[in-house]
Amino acid sequence: MSGGYWNRVLVVDLQQGTSRDEVLNAGARDLLLGGSGLGAWLWEHHSVSGAGALEPGNALVFAAGPLTGTFAPTSGRHEVVTRSPATDAYGEGDAGGTFGTALKRAGYDALVITGSAVRASVLVVDGDQVRLEDAADLWGKDVIDVDTALRTRLGGGFSTALIGPAGENLVLLANIVHDGADARVAGRGGLGAVMGSKLLKGVAVRGTKQVPVHDPDALKQLMRETVPAMREQAIGMHLFGTTGGVQRAEEAGDLPIRNWRDGSFPQAAALSGQAIAERLTGRYHCAGCPIGCGRTVRLHVEGHEGQNGAGLEYESVGALGSLLMLTDLDVVEQAASLCNVFGLDTISTGGTLATAMEARELGLVTAADTDGIDLVWGNGAAVLAMIPRIARRQGFGTRLADGSRKFAASVGHRELAIEVKGMELPAHDPRAYVSLGLGYATATRGACHLQGFSYAFERAATMPEIGLTAPMDRFDHTGKVTMVKATQDLMGLFDSLKFCKFAIYGGLNLTQMGQFLTAVTGRRVDTDELMEIGERIYTYKRLLATRMGISREDDTLPERLLSTDRGGSVAGHLAWLDADVLNEYYDLRGWDRLGVPTVATVKRLNIDQLSIVGPAPEG
Ligand code: SF4
Repeated sequence: MSGGYWNRVLVVDLQQGTSRDEVLNAGARDLLLGGSGLGAWLWEHHSVSGAGALEPGNALVFAAGPLTGTFAPTSGRHEVVTRSPATDAYGEGDAGGTFGTALKRAGYDALVITGSAVRASVLVVDGDQVRLEDAADLWGKDVIDVDTALRTRLGGGFSTALIGPAGENLVLLANIVHDGADARVAGRGGLGAVMGSKLLKGVAVRGTKQVPVHDPDALKQLMRETVPAMREQAIGMHLFGTTGGVQRAEEAGDLPIRNWRDGSFPQAAALSGQAIAERLTGRYHCAGCPIGCGRTVRLHVEGHEGQNGAGLEYESVGALGSLLMLTDLDVVEQAASLCNVFGLDTISTGGTLATAMEARELGLVTAADTDGIDLVWGNGAAVLAMIPRIARRQGFGTRLADGSRKFAASVGHRELAIEVKGMELPAHDPRAYVSLGLGYATATRGACHLQGFSYAFERAATMPEIGLTAPMDRFDHTGKVTMVKATQDLMGLFDSLKFCKFAIYGGLNLTQMGQFLTAVTGRRVDTDELMEIGERIYTYKRLLATRMGISREDDTLPERLLSTDRGGSVAGHLAWLDADVLNEYYDLRGWDRLGVPTVATVKRLNIDQLSIVGPAPEG
């Protein structure tokens, strides 16, 4: 291939304080493309077999895609792959911002970090210059302070991946936060704790190289064909961001309320993108994105009062607003900002706080147990007080720092934790979109709406090349097993090429994705082959997850969603998942009845080739 890739991976050994370049294995590259798929392969081939998530042998991979760093719209993204300490299984997080582009411009397709540093450190990748710097002065600081300090120390042009106090304290809700106040996160699964276990406070990357493009004229032509339409069709995302859908989600019975129990939340409008629009200070575009769904606001957190920073996202409104019965936009915004600066995942933090609030309601914990902070529904001051305590593992925060599953078990009521595989549900209800039940149950990293993004195709999105020519009925089960598999495979592709899923709202289709790949790399692929690659990626990640202990018994849903009618606009509807559905899905995928891909499936998808190719020799 003549473009898109540098065919070069930077491998850093924190223990030894050394780094080396490794030639990107062509076999793995061609079978898995980049981002999520290639990141998973690099993780497997650089981790010590059987290493626990917080052990030095667990590699941490940052992988860009073949299009990252080019002008392909929305491709300025990267994937972080590692073993998740929250699920103790396969973990990954897709992030936008500028880090992936900086990595590519530094001349690397991916960065693999192995071992643990002997002291608090920051990894600096300045083009070909790679070094570890002491970070004793940064340890304990929040991500905005660290980002600012690094930019002052290193100079301009760097992009950063950082942990806050949550990651340092091995909190299982910890994120990796990119670019400080911009807060583009690799979220879910406690990825920040893996970085903390390595005593790695941050990674700063800068590069000036131009990513090679096979056919620049073809790329320009594709830009002309797609970018104006993308801007026009996704104008709602630009104007109101992901929070533009808050009120619609409430009306559709999608927004989670009071730990997934209630059916309506009349205050949704006050937390919507339309309400937030009045307080914006600007809009944010990830590198190379014509949509620009990010928004900036003035922060109201200690130490950063009045500073510009990331505005609310839909998921944060759901997890830290309606889920906890918080109705004051100022408080919800402050709670999300606190999570960002401390390096906590807003979804998992909200989900865990909701479990604690329900435990408080049931009398399983008292205000005395919770350090005098009264975790009752709607108490914003309590939420704001508890978030830093979780990040610092202080007092009752220690009991919440390992997530909802462990906390619920500690009070003898596992059913209060609304999670799958140990990861809290995002703010979309499977009782409102039937595809989500199977999607959450079978997502490789735990409850995840993005590894399938299926609900988008029950709402407004289409993808004609895979038969989704019109949005499907959200309550009708017909064809949904096939649809869930197809959208999971499709998202495996998005996460590996590193297109943003929101580009679907801008009209990006599978044919165009293939055309972009051809223009950038020279590789010709039709849509069938693309979908086979997506299936390979999804199946490969499942295989890794099963080797880490995931099996059929983990492919389940919280009982509450299967048996409790939440009322409202989804009255009478329950989440859709049973043994027959799971069997049909496994059969369709070519997995056995324990959910393990069969030998025949592994061969059909050439996944067996991945174990043969092995790491390439040093370049
Ligand atoms: S649509 Fe939003 S999240 Fe996606 S790349 Fe653009 S700015 Fe980033």
